[in-house]
Amino acid sequence: MNWAFVGASTIAGQYLVPAVRAQAGGTVRWVVSGSSDRAAEFSRTHGIAQSGTSLAVALADPGVDAVYISSTNEKHHAQAMAAIAAGKHVLCEKPLATRIADALAMVRAAEQAGVVFATNHHLRNAGSLRAVRKLIVSGTVGKVLSLRVFHAVELPVHLRGWRLDNPEAGGGVIADLTVHNADCVRFLLGEDPVSVVAQMDTTGLGQGVEDSAMSVWAMPSGTMIFSHESFTHPFAASGLEVHGTRGSILARGVLSQEPQGEIDLVTAAGTTRVEFDRAGLYQGVLRDFGAAVAGRSAPAATGHDGVRSLQIAEAVRQAALTGQRQTVRYGDGR
Ligand code: NDP
Repeated sequence: MNWAFVGASTIAGQYLVPAVRAQAGGTVRWVVSGSSDRAAEFSRTHGIAQSGTSLAVALADPGVDAVYISSTNEKHHAQAMAAIAAGKHVLCEKPLATRIADALAMVRAAEQAGVVFATNHHLRNAGSLRAVRKLIVSGTVGKVLSLRVFHAVELPVHLRGWRLDNPEAGGGVIADLTVHNADCVRFLLGEDPVSVVAQMDTTGLGQGVEDSAMSVWAMPSGTMIFSHESFTHPFAASGLEVHGTRGSILARGVLSQEPQGEIDLVTAAGTTRVEFDRAGLYQGVLRDFGAAVAGRSAPAATGHDGVRSLQIAEAVRQAALTGQRQTVRYGDGR
């Protein structure tokens, strides 16, 4: 599959270029940036044949099969709509958009155009989360009473830009990390929160956007969810805990871009280390995307998954802003 990359971003260079090239016949043919200098530098650094500032020119290339969008969040909508209109398959970064209506429009346009549209919720492709899900689905921990997700980390210095000071670009920890937590919870439990209560704060890095948030979600099954996100916690390890009537799963260091961390299963029989597949997460995203384009299966995270994670994150933001419990409004007819 030949790709056009829209956004000369950190994640594109660090993870997605190698992930595309790890697929049989995977090529990054174009990089499109808002700046010709950045486009040229990105294409030089990563050995990409074509670069430029015009998305239309890249989309007019009949050799381009799919578009990966990793620009700042406010640009995703227009770029995705253009790619879909050109008949290209789309892998879009989370959050899909800065407004739920825009995200829904992207997903509906892709459905109408008959192209694959996927969201890069890469954690679905973590062997660790897949192992945790298997333990839950198999009933090993019994009925799940609660799930706690810890995504309070320190934002790396090289990423301290628009995420910390630009609300229009979709900055803030809720747009960045709560969407991932929402997708993890949905992936692990197979259900969507009904309502949320939340608080958010600025604790050292955010300027005009929140850099920390905590929220509690009610699920249809009665499982209680606690979700914690931050950019300002240098020594807190990421992870999640699933607590059931017959056991607990303690997963540390697993909310990562790398296939890392440890999982322990604690039951009446004692504590057991759980082994899991340590294949690259983004390679898995690309593998599943390729299978979806070939008509064999759905992508790991669909466009609707991206819409749902945004709807949940938006409910968390509204709950924090108002101090009132928010019912999560899905409103996509599903
Ligand atoms: P970056 O800040 O690295 O890049 C975002 C945009 O900023 C680029 O598209 C580029 O614009 C511009 N930019 C990059 N470098 C410079 C520079 N030196 N000076 C000025 N502008 C610059 O963002 P990330 O890679 O961290 O995130 C991009 C997207 O990917 C976001 O939507 C984010 O939420 C998502 N993301 C997803 C992750 C996942 O695991 N699923 C992980 C990390 C990010 P231009 O393209 O116009 O050159």
